Amino acid sequence: MKANKIIETLKNYEAGKPIELVVREFGIAPEDVVKLASNENPKGTNPAVLKAIIDSAHKAHLYPDDSMYALKEALAKRYAVEPNEIIIGAGSDQVLDFIARAFLNEQSSVLMSQVTFAMYEIYAKQLGAKIIRTPSYQHRVDEFIEAYQLHHPKIVYICTPNNPTGDAISKADVLKIIEAVDEETLVVVDGAYMEYASAKDDRFSIAPKDLMIYPNVIYLGTFSKAYALGGMRIGYGIAPHALIQTLSKVRPPFNITTLSMVAAVEALKDQDFVHDSIALHSQEIERYEAFARDHGINYIDSYTNFITYILRDGQSSTQIANRLLEKGVIIRDLASYGMNALRITVGTPIQNDIFFRKYLEVAH
Ligand code: PMP
Repeated sequence: MKANKIIETLKNYEAGKPIELVVREFGIAPEDVVKLASNENPKGTNPAVLKAIIDSAHKAHLYPDDSMYALKEALAKRYAVEPNEIIIGAGSDQVLDFIARAFLNEQSSVLMSQVTFAMYEIYAKQLGAKIIRTPSYQHRVDEFIEAYQLHHPKIVYICTPNNPTGDAISKADVLKIIEAVDEETLVVVDGAYMEYASAKDDRFSIAPKDLMIYPNVIYLGTFSKAYALGGMRIGYGIAPHALIQTLSKVRPPFNITTLSMVAAVEALKDQDFVHDSIALHSQEIERYEAFARDHGINYIDSYTNFITYILRDGQSSTQIANRLLEKGVIIRDLASYGMNALRITVGTPIQNDIFFRKYLEVAH
């Protein structure tokens, strides 16, 4: 049976491989599999959050509060905005879906950097929109402005820090792009990894509040990274009320669960956990940088919880990723993004030791 013509031509999003797959395919015990492929927080679930989830589990028979009052209040307080300037999604992924459905059609185009988060393209293509990419994998202000003036896209996606490369664009440069577009273009500032960038260098730190004077800009954040809640699927968009009202029209009711909401509210209270996550990460990423230098691997300076190694000619990222997989180490091959590169989520000290050891066994 034929589906909608646009859908027939789409590619599926390639998610990080699950531990279960490696266990099944290579007969490796689950405890020997190291998953450094989906930019999850290696500290694990925050114990206070886990307790809150368990304490609320008895409410599973009730639909969640569709107004998401408690979570919006908590986010509004944290980011110094109003609750009605917030939309909640099942991951920021779902907010990206709302954005595409609210603003795109077959006449639209969207602008993004050469290598960036794959879902921007996937959602835009589902609506028949045309994809325009800047030439560089980094976000370059001049390239964005030039492409904007040429194509007048409906949406400009700025992913900072950028997945899957790990680099970031300064707040001053983001503002230059925003100032260059007119109000009929929506600018999406995706800050999924912003907590890591803010901790590393203040010039790269963007708060939702910084963007609220623009009626056509939305900031996206997630609980999946620094807050260690990838499995609970909670993300948010923050923008002026009129924009949030528009997006709310395409939001299905009860789109996140009662337990996700409880988890997010509890997680926001525990900023020490976030600080500790970032401290562990900062310490461990230095080891990845030193390892790269010691073994002649180029890497991109990272503002995220992962690092991207760029391989030299003669080495194949696909081959190395596959060999690591056979040894129970799951990382991300960036060949499908047109890069001979590997994206490795920075794990616990033990996971990282295993990665270094196995990498040397497979890469020659
Ligand atoms: N934006 C970026 C840049 C991401 O890397 C991700 C997760 N991989 C997301 C958005 C979506 O995250 P989530 O749906 O888990 O909030």
